Order: sequence, then structure tokens, then C-alpha cells
Amino acid sequence: MARTLIAGNWKMNGLKSAMREARAVIDGLSPSADAECLICPPFTLVSAMAELAAESGLRVGGQDCHAQASGAHTGDVSAQMLADAGASYVIVGHSERREDHRETDTDVAAKADAAITAGLSPIICVGESLAEREAGRTLAVIADQLAGCLPNGAACAAFVVAYEPIWAIGTGLTPTRDQIAETHQAIRERLTARFGEATADATPIVYGGSMKPANAKEILSVPNVDGGLIGGASLKAPDFLAIYAAAG
Ligand code: PEP
Repeated sequence: MARTLIAGNWKMNGLKSAMREARAVIDGLSPSADAECLICPPFTLVSAMAELAAESGLRVGGQDCHAQASGAHTGDVSAQMLADAGASYVIVGHSERREDHRETDTDVAAKADAAITAGLSPIICVGESLAEREAGRTLAVIADQLAGCLPNGAACAAFVVAYEPIWAIGTGLTPTRDQIAETHQAIRERLTARFGEATADATPIVYGGSMKPANAKEILSVPNVDGGLIGGASLKAPDFLAIYAAAG
């Protein structure tokens, strides 16, 4: 896994016609050895996109997975199924999953564990609400989430941490450089304390929340920011490619 990751989260967007955006990303990519480019489309497009992206610089991922490998879980998709469809990453613990499906840190840890077992790299999302930030609780909230969401199996696996302040997602708001730097530094320290320096240094910590071409370069230059998780601006190939270029 590269140390820098630019990941698009298409959320519940994208019919088959959206594959032309993936095609345009593939065509416009100048893959770098240091930065990985990833799209997490809805489940319905994972297999086709992975086929399209085969032997290109684009990686494909899921947006969620079930903690079990198979069984009576109507409507769910397992990490093993995502791997079978050609995914190499999966997002777990996105704040929209936590809110819409009442996912807890324990659920997120189980999903991350399942992802690792299936050979996927989990992108484990953490982030504070606006009320928590205003109460000065950001670092405590993040520390709690990391303690609960990072599975022990992560010690010897490739995984990613995404810092996504909930109040910045889809709002056009972003934290200041100093706020991002402080939180990413705290995440790196937590990873070091839990898994040791080598794992902590090799683990990408990406920022997510209203990243776009206009602010990507500045955010990506913050210490300990190793890439981005991008929602809205990943839906159009030119914007997504501009963000990827800003990481280079
Ligand atoms: C996200 O949902 O992970 C995200 C960062 O969304 P946006 O870029 O639209 O704020």
C-alpha cells in the first residue's frame, strides 16, 4: 500500500452511466509510486469498475461491509464478497453509516477485522461533531473512537485512518490548518502508542470533509496528512484528478 491515498467516496450516487467518470479518471491518471488513487462506488458498480480498472492505476473499494463472511443477513455484503468482486479497500465507520444505521465503535472494529481477514485494507473513519468540537472535546472523542474502532489484527495489516469532522462533510466547511494538524498528530501518536512506530509511520492518515480542487493542495501540505477521502468532488473526473494531482 502506498503511503498517500486519494480516495473517492461516491456514496449512493452512480448508475451504470457513471462508469464514464471512472474511465476518465483511469485515462487521466499519471500513477505515482507514492500515491494511490481509489474510487469506492456503490456496491452495484464495484465489480464492473474493478474490471475496467484492471491493470490501471485506479483501485476500487467498497463503502461498507458486514462483519460476517456469509450468512442470513439480507441486504448486506461481506468483505470477502467485495474482495471477490475486485475491491482492495473498504470504508468502515463512515459517519453516515454510524448515523443512518446506528453503527457503534464495536461494530466498526468487527468490520475492520473482517476486511483484514478478507485481504482488504479498511479505511477506518473517525471524527467529531460540531458540538464536540465547540466543547473542546475533539481529541478526546477521536482517542475514544480509535480505542474502540481499531482491531488488534490491524497491528500486522495495512489499514488507513480517515479523520472526517462530521461538521465538514458535505457542508463546504473545513477545519483550519492548525486544527487538522493537531488532530492528525494526535492520531499518529495514538497509533504509535498502540501499534509501535513502524506501523504508525506506515499507516496513511487521510483527511475528509469538503476537500476540493481549490483547497486540496493546502490541506494535503499539512503535516501528517497523507491523502484525502473525498465525497462530492470525487463524482466528476476532472475535479477528482485535480485533487490527485495536488497530492503528487
Ligand atoms: C465523505 O463523505 O467522506 C466526504 C468527505 O464528503 P465531502 O467531500 O462531500 O465532504
